[in-house]
Amino acid sequence: MKEWEKNIRKVEPYVPGEQPNKPDMVKLNTNENPYPPAPEVERAWKQFSPDSLKLYPDPTANVLTGALADYHKVTKEQVFVGVGSDDVLATAFLTFFNSGRPILFPDITYSFYDVWANLFQIPYRRPALKEDFHIRAEDYFTENGGIVIANPNAPTGLMESLDFLEQILEKNQDVIVIVDEAYVDFGGESALSLLPKYENLLVVRTFSKSRSLAGLRIGYAVGNEALIKAMNDVKYSYNSYTMNRTSLALGAAVLENEAYFQETVQKIIATRERTKKALSELGFTFPDSKANFIFASHKRVKAKDIFEELRKENIYVRYFEKPKIDNYLRITIGTDREMDRFLAKLKEILDRTGI
Ligand SMILES: *Cc1c(COP(=O)(O)O)cnc(C)c1O
Repeated sequence: MKEWEKNIRKVEPYVPGEQPNKPDMVKLNTNENPYPPAPEVERAWKQFSPDSLKLYPDPTANVLTGALADYHKVTKEQVFVGVGSDDVLATAFLTFFNSGRPILFPDITYSFYDVWANLFQIPYRRPALKEDFHIRAEDYFTENGGIVIANPNAPTGLMESLDFLEQILEKNQDVIVIVDEAYVDFGGESALSLLPKYENLLVVRTFSKSRSLAGLRIGYAVGNEALIKAMNDVKYSYNSYTMNRTSLALGAAVLENEAYFQETVQKIIATRERTKKALSELGFTFPDSKANFIFASHKRVKAKDIFEELRKENIYVRYFEKPKIDNYLRITIGTDREMDRFLAKLKEILDRTGI
């Protein structure tokens, strides 16, 4: 090993789902929204002046934090925006988890959490989910350096109630508790209502799923002003201009059309419920998802085999080769037409491998 190689930071990176680009594919592997963003985004796009790009963007991202503050009825000082919620979560880890005590998150959850913990050298423990994939509250009643809960959880899709979150918050008032609400718009209960009661709560959200803007990269956090100030101090310590001018303009525009947003979310929920029924009939079992995906396992055919067969047909779902979940497929909810094509192929594959 060369001398300089010894000093390279060794990390095991997060592996995002593949982004194939085939004309005839059905892409159900990265929980994107199958519908376009609200028409206001196209309007803002057309009004956008490339000439403005010669100037740096507003480092405070005022148009976006302001629009989000109005939307959630909080102050601008309670909102932090970043380049996707991945950026927001990473900033929160770096800002809040410095005690030397282990932070806690479930063994099965968003697989970026342990990657950031390793990168920032934050010790962590991962209490096991129950057999039914729900979180056991008591596991979070021990001394810790912070807590991260995705609710609904990924990749299970299961939601925990606000009462459940409050149990955890009550017992952990000396550390920051992050609730990652990437999927909350698809039927979860938001912890935003708990903010006035718990000054140590940080709620993180994204425009990538329910707002159909994965390609723009916008995420945000809502919390009390002291938490948001601390995150901004960290942000200004490595990159003042995280949000580019296009993201700011288009991101603020998407919040203008609440009716479109509700309609899109309702369509996805309806398709999800229909898909659950169809999957059941094909012999799949799954936790009762409140997200825009279903985490399903077949009683007879191995998930990996189904994954590979679907892939040959240009139908992409997500498969994690990890302990406890290696016989599950995470299937994003697409349009009704996409789901019909997926279900038809799935049936063919199951029939073919039938005994
Ligand atoms: C998708 C996802 C995110 C990250 O989304 P961004 O595109 O970075 O906003 C964060 N947490 C969970 C649980 C997710 O599934």
